[in-house]
Amino acid sequence: MRARGRSLRAPLAALALASLAAAAGAADRTVLAIGAHAGDAEVTTGAILARHKRLGDRVVMLHLTLGEGGNPKMSPAAYGEQKKREALVAARVLGAEALFGPWKDGELRDTEDAARYVADVIRQVKPTHVVTHWKSSLHPDHEATHRIVNAAVLLASLEGAESAYPRHRGVRGVYYADNWEDAEGFTPYLYVDVTEDLTTWKAAATAYEFVRGGISPFPYLEYYEALARVRGALAGRRFAVALEVDPFAKRRILDALP
Ligand SMILES: [Zn+2]
Repeated sequence: MRARGRSLRAPLAALALASLAAAAGAADRTVLAIGAHAGDAEVTTGAILARHKRLGDRVVMLHLTLGEGGNPKMSPAAYGEQKKREALVAARVLGAEALFGPWKDGELRDTEDAARYVADVIRQVKPTHVVTHWKSSLHPDHEATHRIVNAAVLLASLEGAESAYPRHRGVRGVYYADNWEDAEGFTPYLYVDVTEDLTTWKAAATAYEFVRGGISPFPYLEYYEALARVRGALAGRRFAVALEVDPFAKRRILDALP
C-alpha cells in the first residue's frame, strides 16, 4: 500500500495514543529510532535505546516497513507477520514503544507523502533525539529513510505545514546508526557507552530469527557484538555504539581554544 499522507494518520494515532498519554512528561529525553525495516533499529542501536530506557527516558521505534521480503523460505505475508511479532517482543525487551509504517519492503520511496507521514509521527511522539539510517547504503530503502526522516524533522517543526497535530521544534539532533549496510562514508563521531546494556540488546536483537541465524548468511549477532567491542576499545570503554552526525552538527563555536 502506498502512502497517502492524510489517510495514514488514523491508525497510527490509534496505535500511539495509549502509550503517548502514559509517557507524557515522564522523561526528559525521548529517543525516536526510525528504521527502514523491522530489526534495523534494534540491531544497530538497540543498546543505546536500552541505555536511555534505563536512564528513565522514553524510547520509541518506528519501523517504516516490516522487512518482510527478507526470507526466501516464506511468503512476504507470512514473514511479515513473524517480523511484526518479533518486533513487538524486541520492543518489550528494550522497554520501547513500537510503531509500524504502512510501506512494503523494497518499495519505500522518498516522497512528500512519506515525509508528511513521518512528520506526523514526530509531531505526536515529540522526540528530543532522532536516530536513523546514514545517507549512503546498499539498500535503497535505507537511503530513502535517511532522506524521508530529515525532511520530516524539518516539516514537523514548521507552523505552516499542513497537519492535524501541533508543530514540534524540540528535536535536538538527528543521529545516524552504524549499520553494516550503510557503511560508505560513515565515520563514527559519537560513542555511547553501552557496557551495561549489551545483555538487554542481545535479548532484544535475538527476538528476530534473522539475527539468530538461518535466514541470512550475515552473522548479525557476532558482527554487532564485535563492533560494539571495537567501538568500545576506541572509546576506552568495554562496549560502545557509535553514531555519525551531519557535517554541520560537528561545528563547535568557542570563545577561545578549549
Ligand atoms: Zn534494513
